[in-house]
Formats: sequence, structure tokens, C-alpha cells
Amino acid sequence: MELNENAQIDTSQVDDRRGSGGGGIGGIPIPIGGGRGGIVGIIIAVLVALVGGGFGLNAAVNGGGESQGDNTGLEQKCAADDALRQLDCRNALYVNSIQAYWRTALPERFGEQYQPSKTVFFSQNVTTGCGAADSGVGPFYCPADDLVYIDLTFYRVLADQLGAEGEFAQPYVLAHEYGHHVQDLLGTEAQMRRQQQRDPDNANALSVKLELQADCYAGAWARNATGTADESGQKIFTSISEQDIQQAIDTAEKIGDDAISERANRPVNPDEFTHGSSAQRKEWFSRGYSSGDPKSCDTFGNG
Ligand SMILES: [Zn+2]
Repeated sequence: MELNENAQIDTSQVDDRRGSGGGGIGGIPIPIGGGRGGIVGIIIAVLVALVGGGFGLNAAVNGGGESQGDNTGLEQKCAADDALRQLDCRNALYVNSIQAYWRTALPERFGEQYQPSKTVFFSQNVTTGCGAADSGVGPFYCPADDLVYIDLTFYRVLADQLGAEGEFAQPYVLAHEYGHHVQDLLGTEAQMRRQQQRDPDNANALSVKLELQADCYAGAWARNATGTADESGQKIFTSISEQDIQQAIDTAEKIGDDAISERANRPVNPDEFTHGSSAQRKEWFSRGYSSGDPKSCDTFGNG
């Protein structure tokens, strides 16, 4: 995979709530004492409140969708010559590519206007429209505030603990989360929740269908990613190789419910799956990639 050095990174599609400097509080390591999430959790909660303070009024008036972070540091960093060497800048550019894809694909394939959604970079804890969350839950999409949330250190967990290495795992993860945003825009998500309420015995199976569709949407983006451009028309990717796609497929496989249970030495119980097995996740990402058409992602079998 090669990113275009001339592509402009639009950091306004990101809401940086990591605190100053990004990645840790001002880069100062805080000694962890008295258990995880204790003192450190409180310090971060206070900091988030302070960082958000300047925009507190806006946030209160407009709901959770408003920026609460401070993007100044990120903006400067991502305008510099070596921006593509920075994990956070690259991730901002992946977000740009994914949203550029849907801006065209959603009206073309579904006749709906795409509404942009920001990605919130946070560290350790974050307050969302869906409640408080910590990094342990992994990246997620919150339908209540239409935002994608990620602690970028998740990629280290993905590589070190789950064995999903390779850069292309990153845009795959983001494209999966934006897949949920698209499901939200199309009403698929709300429909699925209603179905779950009517049919609680099938709640997990329905969740699997939603997740596999998000994987398939990620595949459709991957197929079309080299066609995406920044605002001035500069291509975002100069190339994506078969190896990159293989990395995304490997990642999909490694985060299958059965793979995660096995790694944790827990029994594998398909009834408890909420995201799909390794084989299914791999299959649906590949299906989206082969067709390049999100319309082929009909995991609910509605034709
Ligand atoms: Zn998901």
C-alpha cells in the first residue's frame, strides 16, 4: 500500500480528544498505582472535561456530535512533510478515503445522501452519546451521536495480542466502523434493533448479520479505495496490493468470534457469536472486495 504524499489530510474529519500532544497526556508517562483505571482513569476523565470545556456550550446545545477535542496539534502535524510517517495522520487520511468513497457510493448505489461522521481519537476513556467507554472495548461506532471512536493503541493490541499485523489492518478496522455508520444512515441498524426486540432468541444471530455486512462494506471500500481523492482531487492511495488485501482478510479472520474465544482459552459457542466466525468475516470482506459493490452485502438475505 502506498499513500500519495501530495494528498492533503483533512483533519476536520477527526476529533482529537487525546489531550495535548496526542497519545498519552502531553507525552508524560503517569505512574500507574492502585490498579488500572483508578487514579489514571480519574485524571483522564478530568482532562477530557477540561479539554472539552472550551466547547462545552456548543456540545450541550448541539448534542454529542460537535467536536470536543483540540485538533490544533494534529492539524499542524498532518500538514508537515513527514505526516505520512505519523500513525494518527495516516489514520485521518484513511478516514478521508472511506468517507470520500461513501460520498459517491451511497447516492449511486442506494439513492441516499451521505452524511459525514467524524472519528474521535481518544486515549483510554471517552464519554460518548452511547455512554462512557474505555479502550478495552476496541473501536466502535455510536449511533446516538453518529461518531466513530478509536484509541489508536488498539492497533498494537491487534498486532501483539491478536497477531493481526500489517498496516492495512488499520483502514480495514476504520472502514468496518464506517460500515456501521452507513447502516445507521440507511436505517439498517435501527431495523435490526427492532428485530432483536421482537425476536430476542435471535439477537446474537442478527448482530452477526449486521457485523458481517460492515465487513462486506469495508471490502467494497477496499476495492474502490484507489479511486478516492482528497478535496483538491489528489488521489489518496497510489497503490493497494494483493498483499494489503490479504492483510485485511487475515485481520478479519483473527478477530472472528471463534478465533478470539480460542485465544482466550474459552469454549467456542456459535450461539454466543455476535460478530461472526473467522470464516464468515473473511468471506464477507472478500465478497465486498470482489464485487466492489455494497449492494452485494445483503447479509440479511432481503434480496
Ligand atoms: Zn462492528
